[in-house]
Amino acid sequence: MDHLAQIFTQQDELIAPVGAYQNEYEAIKALHSLSGEKRQRFQNLTRKLLGDLDQPHDRKAIAERSRMWRNKGNSLFRSSAMEFGPDAEAERVLGACRLYTKAVLVAEDVEDELCLAFANRGIALQEYGYYQEAYDDCANALEFGYPRRLQHKVIIRQAHCAAKLKRTEQLAENIACLEKLQLNERFRQQLEDLKENLEMLRGQSSSEKSVEEQEKNDPIQEIVCQSGSRGRHMIAKEAIPQGKIIFREQATCFVPLEQRLICQQCACSLMCAPIPCPKCRQRVVYCSRECRERHKSIHRFECVAYRKDLLKMVGVSHLALRMVLSYMPSMLPQLQECASSAEMWSTLMTLTTGADKEDEQTPQYLQSLRMISHLDKAPQAELVYHMLCANLLQVYLKECTDFFAQFQPSSASLEDWHLIVAALILRSAGQLLVNGHVGDALLPVNLEANEFGLLQSEMWQKPRHLQLGQLHNLSQTEPLTAINLPHLSICNHACAPCIRTKFDGCTAVCYSAVDIEAGDEIFNCYTMDYRKSMLRQRSQPLQEVYKFECSCAKCTRTDPDQDYLKFHRYRCENESCLREFVPEPLPHQTNLNWWLQSPDAAEASVCCPVCKETQVFAWYNDFMCLIDSCAEAKARRELYKAFDGVDQYLLGHHILKRKLAEALIEPCFAEMDEGCVLDDVDYENLTRIVETQLEGTAAQSGGNSMEYISQMTYLWDLWALSKCKRSEQQLQEMKGKLEYLAAEHREIFENYYNDFIEQQCK
Ligand SMILES: [Zn+2]
Ligand SMILES: [Zn+2]
Ligand SMILES: [Zn+2]
Ligand SMILES: [Zn+2]
Repeated sequence: MDHLAQIFTQQDELIAPVGAYQNEYEAIKALHSLSGEKRQRFQNLTRKLLGDLDQPHDRKAIAERSRMWRNKGNSLFRSSAMEFGPDAEAERVLGACRLYTKAVLVAEDVEDELCLAFANRGIALQEYGYYQEAYDDCANALEFGYPRRLQHKVIIRQAHCAAKLKRTEQLAENIACLEKLQLNERFRQQLEDLKENLEMLRGQSSSEKSVEEQEKNDPIQEIVCQSGSRGRHMIAKEAIPQGKIIFREQATCFVPLEQRLICQQCACSLMCAPIPCPKCRQRVVYCSRECRERHKSIHRFECVAYRKDLLKMVGVSHLALRMVLSYMPSMLPQLQECASSAEMWSTLMTLTTGADKEDEQTPQYLQSLRMISHLDKAPQAELVYHMLCANLLQVYLKECTDFFAQFQPSSASLEDWHLIVAALILRSAGQLLVNGHVGDALLPVNLEANEFGLLQSEMWQKPRHLQLGQLHNLSQTEPLTAINLPHLSICNHACAPCIRTKFDGCTAVCYSAVDIEAGDEIFNCYTMDYRKSMLRQRSQPLQEVYKFECSCAKCTRTDPDQDYLKFHRYRCENESCLREFVPEPLPHQTNLNWWLQSPDAAEASVCCPVCKETQVFAWYNDFMCLIDSCAEAKARRELYKAFDGVDQYLLGHHILKRKLAEALIEPCFAEMDEGCVLDDVDYENLTRIVETQLEGTAAQSGGNSMEYISQMTYLWDLWALSKCKRSEQQLQEMKGKLEYLAAEHREIFENYYNDFIEQQCK
């Protein structure tokens, strides 16, 4: 990071002040038209940076490390854990998958090791019942040169997986392959069995297909995008009741945040058999071979950048690069005719002024070109930073990839293409600063960055079925992707949003969060909403990032913070006062969460405005101290009482009450995970506390929010564990929340519900 900053500082000194900013094209042109010697030095600095980023690659050490992990996997997999009970048995198989995955990842491009690691992981995956992944791993092993004389073993395994998956075509292929090989008696017998299996599958195959297709066609409500003096915005053509899907948008471009190891093609996060690109240092993985194939046209231009670890340095420009890589094929036909970069730019700008056609979906590249940008209002330093990032990525494409080969021959010169590509990266980056979205998902609690959710053996009983009492360990909401959603970006901001967006891989599904009338504008919220923030807290990012002052109905009413303050109502501790009050925020205070501040901060003190007495909150520290001993039943009993006791000071759905609930529930569950046995009194009290927490969360964040769903996992565990009866209505309501989960999580929640809740509650 420092290295990049150093180079950028030196480059900044070479370029003249940008002056009045016109557009991305002119800004990049200024970089490209430096005078002779300066230009030379400028370019050398970029090249030097790219060169310095090369990292040593010790193949021998890599091979050794991979072999070490594989051997560990082998000894675990071959151990006789059966004798030690079901937990050890789960760890034997999934634990081996985990170790083999390490072997796969570290093997990188040392193919001798890579193919063996894949083959061994395939065996473990097949035994656990992950047949699709096992099938892929067999193919991986063959692809990376599994020894010829042993290949029949891998192909036989692949055929068995295909049979389990009822994939007749693949099974037929495997059989054809095996028939050409010399097999011994045992394998010949297996081959005969597989052939029989194939005949049987062929007999029954026709009936199974059509079911999958149906679910996808949710009703899309009528909306229309208008552009006018207020810019583009979205209007409901007809009334949309709360909870309906307004639209879905599948993103062509996203990048994982913080270099998270999620599938680079479909953004799924719960993997059991990640398939890495072996050439870029374990930084890119896919959930399947299919995803890897589909991402090839992008990754071929990013692979070297990942290898150099360049992309994490350039922040938002990585997603900007991906936009240019993805959309270029659509723009190419129109640009190819142009004789110069100036002409190309004006062609692109003409496209941005066109209006959306009402009945057809505007292509995503065009929607993206039309997104707003505030680069013209950016401070000089910020602008220069983004210019240098765009330049760096363009030079990277030129020096390290064959990206520019696709533009030959064309009317314009290569230099023109360099300029246009850099200008487009800069434009996309500027657009993303105000239009980029962040996709989130539920992840296992405390999962290390290089671990994978489905391989945590303590959580699972079989593929995608959690063990009893384990749902709460799948409750960590994390931002996973930076994602370009140009259609969603049409929605303007209001502090009370009309939509609730669900991220399902790289698809955003927008639900109506309220009843929307025909003719209403559909608003998104770009910051924290009016219930979760004070006006002054959200107005700062709105001004700094989005360059506007909010004039929505919530911000312009006489008491703009009333909905926030509702969650901060106290009763005075002073026995002779006992009045209800809401603390008066100090002039620079942006929130009222005194418990998050250091005790000596001025903001940390809360005063009763009636009797002026400073509140001591002794009960708060008492409560927190008790939590340390929540492994003891006696301490837990006291905690439950103390939790009820704070009701005399914290009124309504006080946010602190929810924080206390969280502070109590999480360690109790952690103790339970460690083997501490809870009894019916515990279950009863914890259930009541989680329910209180959920009511508050529903009031402040909405009953379909990720926050709610994440807390709901504790309730489901308690229901499953305590075996008490729930009303049908309660069950239906909670089951309804599943709608707001991504498909990969929804399946797991549904399995959990069916395995443990439905059975016991009826
Ligand atoms: Zn995928
Ligand atoms: Zn790669
Ligand atoms: Zn507002
Ligand atoms: Zn008072």
